[in-house]
Formats: sequence, structure tokens, C-alpha cells
Amino acid sequence: MRMLIMGPPGAGKGTQGKKVAEEFGIPEISTGAIFRSNVAEKTELGKVVSAIMEKGELVPDSVTVDLVADRLAKPDTAPGFLLDGFPRTVPQAEALDGILAKLGIALDAVLSLVVDGETLVQRMMKRAEIEGRADDNEETIRRRFEVYTAETEPLLALYRDRGLLVEVDGLGAVDEVHARIVAALKK
Ligand code: AMP
Repeated sequence: MRMLIMGPPGAGKGTQGKKVAEEFGIPEISTGAIFRSNVAEKTELGKVVSAIMEKGELVPDSVTVDLVADRLAKPDTAPGFLLDGFPRTVPQAEALDGILAKLGIALDAVLSLVVDGETLVQRMMKRAEIEGRADDNEETIRRRFEVYTAETEPLLALYRDRGLLVEVDGLGAVDEVHARIVAALKK
């Protein structure tokens, strides 16, 4: 099972992505999580991306694409993988096509979590309190939505045209949403 999980900021990609990956026995690869751990460990990459992330902007495509290409070349992705937070731009989606073509593999599904905007802002403010993520303040949250709408949302149409898009209502308890996802994927 090779899949992507997409959705606006705060839609629950991380939470649901981990659960789905566990269910299918595949690694969950979150570019955001990889960037955050580099920031925490103060690596060279972490120094490059920390200010970008705090502003709610996107890390340059070249940096992100190289990171994903390296990660997908690792042997643990043989049974499949779930990419969370990548691709986020049209050039990243094109780069992913190239990476997968080189590996001789293709995507099976693109999961899209659908949640309305007001719910999301409330969720993110709550997460800001609980997790204390540096990019969970109001100004950054607003910017992340703008970036999502401008750069990432157009990818949904691209994957819909390819017949890969699986849309799931992301509103409700974690287990409820998870059950919906599993049912939708089995179809
Ligand atoms: P996330 O955890 O997916 O919400 O990502 C947190 C932040 O990491 C984003 O707001 C971006 O600054 C950065 N990031 C994560 N994935 C990407 C990506 N595919 N392209 C560019 N920046 C990314």
C-alpha cells in the first residue's frame, strides 16, 4: 500500500496517518515531523528550516524533495509507505512522480481528510496549548492556511483526475475517523 494523506492544517493528518500506517504495517513518513526533529536536534537542516516553519511558510522544494527521495529509497518502504505532508506543491508532486517512476512503483491511493475551516482553527489553537508547537500561534496558523489554499489544495484535483483521491470526512472522534478511513480504503 503506497499512499499519501492530505488535508488542511489541523485536519488530523498526523494522528490518522500514524494509525493507518500501523494498520497496514507500513512506515509513516511525515516531512513536518522530520523537519521538527532536525530543528530539535539543531542539525544543519534544522537551522535552515526553523525560521521558515515558524513563519508558516514552506521549506524550499529542492530541500524537501531530496529528503523524500532519500527516505523512499530505504528498504523499509518495500511493503509500502504513507507520506504525510508531502507533496505540498505542484513541483513536489511532479518530483514525486519522478521518484516513484525511478523506483518502478506507483501510488495506490491519496487520502484526503475533509474538515471545515472554523473547526480547524479551533483544533489548532487547542493543539497549540497541548503540544506547544512553535508554528501553532495565530498568525502562523493563518499563514499556513493561506499557503495550503494557494499551493497544496490544487493537488487534490490532480489526484482526483488520476482516480486516486479517497475523500473522508475528518470530523469526529479519532477512532470514528479512523474507521471511516479504513472502510473507504477497502472499497
Ligand atoms: P506539518 O507537520 O505537515 O504541518 O508541517 C509543518 C511545517 O513543516 C510546514 O508548515 C512547513 O513549514 C514544513 N513542511 C512540511 N512538509 C513540507 C513540504 N512537503 N514542503 C515544504 N514544507 C514542508
